[in-house]
Amino acid sequence: TERLHIIGGGMAGSEAAWQAAQAGIPVTIHEMRPQVETFAHRTGNLAEMVCSNSFRSDDSEQNAVGLLHWEMRQAGGLIMQMADKHRLPAGGALAVDRDPFSEDVTAALRAHPLVEVEDGEISELPSDGHWIIATGPLTSGALAEAIRAETGAESLAFFDAIAPIVYAESIDMDIAWMQSRYDKGETEEEQKAYLNCPMTKDEYEAFIDALLAADKTEFHEGETAGYFDGCLPIEVMAERGRETLRHGPMKPVGLTNAHKPDEKAWAVVQLRRDNKLGTLYNIVGFQTKMKYGAQTEVFKMIPGLQDASFARLGGIHRNTFINSPTLLDDQMRLKSRPNIRFAGQITGVEGYVESAAMGLLAGRLAVAEMTGKTLPPVPAETAMGALVTHITGGAEAKTFQPMNVNFGLFPPVAGLKAGRRGRKDRYKAYTDRAKELWTGWLAV
Ligand code: FAD
Repeated sequence: TERLHIIGGGMAGSEAAWQAAQAGIPVTIHEMRPQVETFAHRTGNLAEMVCSNSFRSDDSEQNAVGLLHWEMRQAGGLIMQMADKHRLPAGGALAVDRDPFSEDVTAALRAHPLVEVEDGEISELPSDGHWIIATGPLTSGALAEAIRAETGAESLAFFDAIAPIVYAESIDMDIAWMQSRYDKGETEEEQKAYLNCPMTKDEYEAFIDALLAADKTEFHEGETAGYFDGCLPIEVMAERGRETLRHGPMKPVGLTNAHKPDEKAWAVVQLRRDNKLGTLYNIVGFQTKMKYGAQTEVFKMIPGLQDASFARLGGIHRNTFINSPTLLDDQMRLKSRPNIRFAGQITGVEGYVESAAMGLLAGRLAVAEMTGKTLPPVPAETAMGALVTHITGGAEAKTFQPMNVNFGLFPPVAGLKAGRRGRKDRYKAYTDRAKELWTGWLAV
């Protein structure tokens, strides 16, 4: 029988290996730890949880990640089995006792007669055989370089850069105004895409002082390798010179204060509409490593945002991920080298559970291919299907950023309208539908 090779024994690689081995396919997991370390992992165990110990909500009727738990349990997933075994009390969330969890995943895989674990880093793309690359957000430099040579530099990211998002209703429109720079945009709709908050010279100087003084999360050693100028944190821009921001994301040119047309602003903070409904706006260019508490304090100094409430605060994380919508086919294979599948966070999903889920699926797809079976596509109405459909085609390739599973990715249920009212019924309808379709798909 042919052998399946998996690079990376994290959440995704461990689950992919388990799925294949349970289906009778021999597997080799290639794992670089402990010889080669990352800045976040501490052990040589497989499936190490690097930060929080939570698999998030376990509610499979009202929550998309809870539904994903359910689907993985139905598929005999090892990661869920061990998470359940080492569950810690945490209300509705599934919190996990991390060390015994990863020790047990490691033990189960090492004890499996069809699984082999080979230590050491893989630094080239394999040219033949069946492979899954599941090397995660901290893919080693050499392998990332090999992937980049294959996909092109624009298709491999080393960081995600998240700007803070504000609820539109909390912005003071007696101070802020709507206008795109140089009134660009044909339609009224396009011109409404931007909100502007003006600053006087004094306000700007005080803002720069606050940015410089704010508490920041430090990058870990080794985390900043490959750091590029396009996504510098605002506080780093401020450190480069007091005028840098005023000539960068806060430049006042091409804008006229609708409330005070005669006053030229010294600097302007722009916000860009973040969703179709227009209920959310992100602060343009304001990715930051400031701590959450400091962010809310500093951003409320921006005139117009004094009462702002935030849907999400900013962040920058080391995260290696490929542009899956352009690079992968619907079988998670690299279009340019179909003997290689990708799985886990490197495909542009986000989180332990989502990564393990994409490992589960890649493992099953590889098994089907190796045993000459044709599987129907995973129904997009399931959590698993919604995620894989998003990354392999549903997402906008140009602005592709890592994604958590959420009901926004699911096709609507006929007859149930969007909106706050009826949300409970809608989520129940989503999850009922998903469970039936997933059970059907597993039975094929
Ligand atoms: P990983 O679990 O990282 O597994 C990849 C494996 O591949 C690793 O074992 C690595 O050693 C190995 N590897 C890499 N390159 C090579 C190579 N060339 N050859 C051989 N082996 C290789 N998610 C959450 O849900 N909650 C959190 O709180 C959270 N915090 C995070 C904090 C940090 C600092 C980071 C970096 C990530 C965090 N994540 C968090 C994301 C989390 O790491 C992933 O969701 C999950 O671990 C990804 O699973 P994976 O299998 O894709 O990658």
